[in-house]
Amino acid sequence: MQKPENPKRGEVDVANVLRVGRKTLGPEAGIALYRLLRLVALEDIIGRGAAGTAYIAGKKLGAGLGLTKLEDFLKLCHDLKIGVIKVPILTNTKIHVDVYECVTCDGMTPVGRTLCHFEGGLIAGAVEGILKRKARAQEVTCIGGLGHQTCGFDLEIG
Ligand SMILES: [Zn+2]
Repeated sequence: MQKPENPKRGEVDVANVLRVGRKTLGPEAGIALYRLLRLVALEDIIGRGAAGTAYIAGKKLGAGLGLTKLEDFLKLCHDLKIGVIKVPILTNTKIHVDVYECVTCDGMTPVGRTLCHFEGGLIAGAVEGILKRKARAQEVTCIGGLGHQTCGFDLEIG
């Protein structure tokens, strides 16, 4: 396993966290851990404000990935198994992204609100980085939140 060059003391960056050791378990983990952290532990501490926090976290991360092409973002979503991504609307001012088999919520009994703010932020941040324009994502359908077929995000492009 490659060691980080010279991480600044206490600093954790994307490249470093993506270096996975785990000699016997390997790089994969069940999604239960992610869901427990995101939907149970985080909401327990921050409350409903966790939605905004998750969106901003996703957006910062998405923008910081340094992606330059839509295909690279789709590949990242595929590699991280965020879901099966389709982009049925792609115009100069409006984008709609559908996430099938969403990592955050597919399979849950609907709870009556959208849940996938991290994914929305990640999409908005990645789109901003790619298009070099302001982007805002709103989750308009949600599988585990509202019982829809996809987690769908409307993006307004500034
Ligand atoms: Zn969702």
